[in-house]
Amino acid sequence: MYPHPFRYFRAGSISEAISLLGELGGEARFIAGGQSLIPLMKLRLARPTALVDLNFIPGLARIEMNDGGVWFGAMARHADIAESRAAARIPILRDCAGGIADVQVRNRGTIGGSVAEADPSSDWMAVLLALGADVRAVGEGGDRVVPIEQFVVDAFTTDLRPGEMVREISVKLPPKKSGGAYIAVKRSAPVYATAGVAVHLSLGDRDTCAEARIVAASVGLTAVRLGEAEKALRGRRIDDRTVEGAAEAAMAGVDPPSDQRGSAEYKRLLVGALVRQAIGASLARARGESVEVKHDYAGR
Ligand SMILES: Cc1cc2nc3c(=O)[nH]c(=O)nc-3n(C[C@H](O)[C@H](O)[C@H](O)COP(=O)(O)OP(=O)(O)OC[C@H]3O[C@@H](n4cnc5c(N)ncnc54)[C@H](O)[C@@H]3O)c2cc1C
Repeated sequence: MYPHPFRYFRAGSISEAISLLGELGGEARFIAGGQSLIPLMKLRLARPTALVDLNFIPGLARIEMNDGGVWFGAMARHADIAESRAAARIPILRDCAGGIADVQVRNRGTIGGSVAEADPSSDWMAVLLALGADVRAVGEGGDRVVPIEQFVVDAFTTDLRPGEMVREISVKLPPKKSGGAYIAVKRSAPVYATAGVAVHLSLGDRDTCAEARIVAASVGLTAVRLGEAEKALRGRRIDDRTVEGAAEAAMAGVDPPSDQRGSAEYKRLLVGALVRQAIGASLARARGESVEVKHDYAGR
């Protein structure tokens, strides 16, 4: 289906994008990779009267890393993040960015668009929550930084104020002896996950877990941080027993809906299995081993 008619504006700077959106009024939208917005427009589920294109703003796709952290410009594409130095340093970024949909979507879709869209099935939300990322928003009133945990308010709803755009997403460099992994089960490449789990942990002495963050994707209205599963690891030596405790707590901590991707019970079992796998990969990476993880595609 053709989209409803709209006007198109190409912004040359962040300030121009913000003032254009303000001038064009409430029905205007930013467009980044178009991988969520364009399909919705073609289905006429979204009917913006005007689009403000962010693709030609210099510097908005940059990825920078120093000793303190990594900064992703809002227009950084999934494919560029997967191949970045940052992803080599923090492999959970590669697990996520390199596993989103297919190569076409990864070449166009952006981290800023994913965060602004706040799709409950987004892979990025779980991973950014596990990494404790910050979102820098900018509007006519200036910049503000919002922790990702507060940025996501509900399904498809963020803390962005009218007229604001996402400028940047940042993550701190994890301490030494840290590792994380993101693994999802997908029915096929170009669809969202049936369930996904992101784990990030830091080790103390003798494989004791000093810190852990565990987040489930695609099993609720937002990505779900699994506090009880984290507690099952924190301060304990990571062995089969503690991993099993975390998996049990994770399964008890999710309340997924039954839908075309699977029954609630199936998704709960997936979460348990993915927690076990993701902790194993995270532990190996925290010990300095090079471990590749892959999403599990049904029927593969
Ligand atoms: C076939 C297919 C399969 C997919 N599978 C997955 C998947 O498995 N996992 C996954 O995580 N994602 C998946 N996606 C979504 C993909 O990751 C998109 O790239 C992402 O959701 C949106 O990014 P975008 O740059 O395309 O944003 P757009 O579609 O351009 O924009 C999305 C929304 O965000 C707003 N917006 C965009 N950028 C900004 C900004 N900087 N500031 C404020 N608002 C902004 C727009 O106005 C719009 O409302 C899939 C998409 C397709 C088409």
